[in-house]
Amino acid sequence: MEKNAEPNTNCLQDIECPKCGHTSPMEIVVRSWARVYDDGVEETYDTEWDENSRIHCLNCGHRGNVFAFVTEGEEDDLPCERVKEYNGTWSCVNDHTGCMWNDGHNQCGYKGESLSPLGDD
Ligand SMILES: [Zn+2]
Repeated sequence: MEKNAEPNTNCLQDIECPKCGHTSPMEIVVRSWARVYDDGVEETYDTEWDENSRIHCLNCGHRGNVFAFVTEGEEDDLPCERVKEYNGTWSCVNDHTGCMWNDGHNQCGYKGESLSPLGDD
């Protein structure tokens, strides 16, 4: 399976493989109601899981619990965004101190008037 690194926005929002970055699809051990006949399962519904459910990355095979796959709150997920201070300097809004333009104290050294230097090409 090809790695998919598109951010999830629906059922799998904030879920990403911590090992390879793959985002979808995943295999998750879920709880659901199933209509079961003698010869098999016909349909399932009310499917749910939580952060302690087992999850399996279909790209690299990494397994863990859902909470280990949640990316929420990581600063790298926040967009590149800066504001101009009254003294003419630029400040990084989302604390990207590892960015090439950030001096380590959230002052942005990118030349120009762009509010999102990393979005410029
Ligand atoms: Zn993976």
